[in-house]
Amino acid sequence: MTIPRVDLPPGVGLDTLAVREGLPRTQWGENSEALFLTSSFVHPDAATAARRFANEEEAFVYSRFGNPTVTMMERRLAAMEGTSGCIGTGSGMAAILMLVLGLLKGGDHVVCSQSVFGSTIRLLQDFAKFGIETSFVAQTDVAQWRAAMRPTTKLLFAESPTNPLTEVCDIAALAEIAHAGGALLAVDNCFCSPALQQPVKLGADLVIHSGTKYLDGQGRVVAGAVCGPAELIDSKFVPVMRSAGMSLSPFNAWVVLKGLETLSVRMQAQSARALTLARWLEAQPAVERVYYPGLESHPQHALAMAQQSGCGGAVVSFAVKGERAGAFATIDATRICSITANLGDTKTTITHPASTSHGRLSEAQRQVAGITQGMIRVAVGLEDIVDIQADLQRGLAALA
Ligand SMILES: *Cc1c(COP(=O)(O)O)cnc(C)c1O
Repeated sequence: MTIPRVDLPPGVGLDTLAVREGLPRTQWGENSEALFLTSSFVHPDAATAARRFANEEEAFVYSRFGNPTVTMMERRLAAMEGTSGCIGTGSGMAAILMLVLGLLKGGDHVVCSQSVFGSTIRLLQDFAKFGIETSFVAQTDVAQWRAAMRPTTKLLFAESPTNPLTEVCDIAALAEIAHAGGALLAVDNCFCSPALQQPVKLGADLVIHSGTKYLDGQGRVVAGAVCGPAELIDSKFVPVMRSAGMSLSPFNAWVVLKGLETLSVRMQAQSARALTLARWLEAQPAVERVYYPGLESHPQHALAMAQQSGCGGAVVSFAVKGERAGAFATIDATRICSITANLGDTKTTITHPASTSHGRLSEAQRQVAGITQGMIRVAVGLEDIVDIQADLQRGLAALA
């Protein structure tokens, strides 16, 4: 027995894959995908069980390393990213842990953007105690990435655009540097999702996801995934999953699976609202600067448009007059926005990066990173954008 695919005509588009890719229906003919809440699977006889445990026959055995609902989510996400393989994980951070455990050993070296998600930086720094060293380089300076390469460099890690400054890196240029040095490029595609950006098409080898964000899209579950070549996933990551068990729960996989069906329309709609908001913010006297890749004023606007299907994404950051007090007053005057550091939700969220997501950095580190006390980050949801503008206008009017 091998696990069959759903029967789709060859060459169907991304939106069709997002709704239809996965496993075939069960014998009951369900239209919405089944949720397999089961920890283990039953075998017809002892000899079959032995073959399955020895990997001589493909079948579901135990949900730590295989479950039909999880497999369905993995197949659908892989199809959307344009990779032959994908492995679901318990969280986005578990996906990055899996990447490190599966690919690296003591003595290996990593080059990583200094602007990636804070916990990613922490995790890579923590691996120094196991002899895996990481050089952190400027997100947008390709020369720094090239100069950081060593004979022992095995992995380049980037995220684009970044949080909260929305800095965009040149994925194709980083892939070239990685491959010239015999290393792999992994891209955290959390902010764009495959609906806007497919890093593998630009030369990346592996794509990391926090399914917690846009893939679920409604702020319900914590989930993650690594997408890449099936041979690499099967040889490097499946054994880690089997022994280390950073597994994705079938329920969370099912929620993400259903989220993928609306991902494309959500990303388009949220991105369009974000552009409207960014343009409006640029015209507000109390706003000193707006960070949004969809604006012509963004330093990597052209690169972002080329990499991100012409969309800026849904995250807009801006600096207000009045430093921290000005930012807090603006946030506190909102009545619709959710004050939370999460993002990728249909509900618009608002946060003060300097005291939340980047609160563990020293003020000097924040200055280097460009995260000022007056900065606010908004992750635009699906409400009427005029209502979000009015929400921000209340606080901004008092600062101008
Ligand atoms: C949230 C996030 C993560 C971590 O994902 P979790 O699901 O919270 O573990 C990783 N990278 C980026 C860019 C994120 O925004």
